[in-house]
Amino acid sequence: MYGTGLAKGLLLTLRHFVESYIDDLRYGFRKYHHSTDNFGIRQGTKTKGVITVQYPDEKVAVPERFRFVPFLIVEDEDHPTRAGKDWCTSCGICAKVCPPQCIWIVRGNDPVTGRPVPEPEAFFIDIDICMNCGYCAEYCPFDAIKMDHDYEMASYDRTSHHIHDKERLSKPNSYWRGIAPTRAYEEMLVRGTWEHKDAAKEARRGAASSARGRSSQPAAPAATVTSSAAEAAPEASAAAAPAPAAEGATPWSEDDAKREERRRKALERKARRAAKQG
Ligand code: SF4
Ligand code: SF4
Repeated sequence: MYGTGLAKGLLLTLRHFVESYIDDLRYGFRKYHHSTDNFGIRQGTKTKGVITVQYPDEKVAVPERFRFVPFLIVEDEDHPTRAGKDWCTSCGICAKVCPPQCIWIVRGNDPVTGRPVPEPEAFFIDIDICMNCGYCAEYCPFDAIKMDHDYEMASYDRTSHHIHDKERLSKPNSYWRGIAPTRAYEEMLVRGTWEHKDAAKEARRGAASSARGRSSQPAAPAATVTSSAAEAAPEASAAAAPAPAAEGATPWSEDDAKREERRRKALERKARRAAKQG
């Protein structure tokens, strides 16, 4: 029958109107008091009626799965070995899958050998072009890019404020665990660790190499260095000690001597190849 939909719509509006006043009676003036928890309750799924959110004084809490622009995860500042280190390996998958192509990545290089290292030197996202689809976060194999909850980004200067660089994009792992605890927990179960999976791998390698170092080290003769002599000249004993085993060290965390050695070998290989071709 003509007009049924119109009548239903009007009835719905009337119901919301009445329910708003019932809710007012239920909460009384506490409903408008900013310092109470009522605002959170009124924004919940059990809320009835229509209310006005006094933004920006009041803000509706966003659900955990809410997504706005992406950010990059870095290790927490209190991490014992990788504080502030990027989780991103600059593999470029996010930039490839991004539908509007608003991600730019510059892969880092080893300063000595010039070979690429798994760290981004620069990372930019144009948040005006980003359509908040979340593909980058879905496809990242290292859980290194996530969708943020921060939606207050209006500004008058597009260039300096809306093209986010690596510094602006980087946020600690603890931030992600704070805004998306359930998701972070699920990811941790799949990854097997709260840290970046490389951190756990490095720790395992370090433990294995130090165990190998201990087992292969010959027992020092008792008369060679007495404890009192070592205490008397700790610098000398440290200088005489062999450098710690570098096995398992990543190219970007090794010391200068090791780098120099690697560079020398790379140049030798290059010279041999050139001689063969010539
Ligand atoms: S954020 Fe993830 S997908 Fe993108 S480059 Fe870094 S590691 Fe690769
Ligand atoms: S959320 Fe979507 S549009 Fe935005 S950077 Fe990620 S993939 Fe690109």
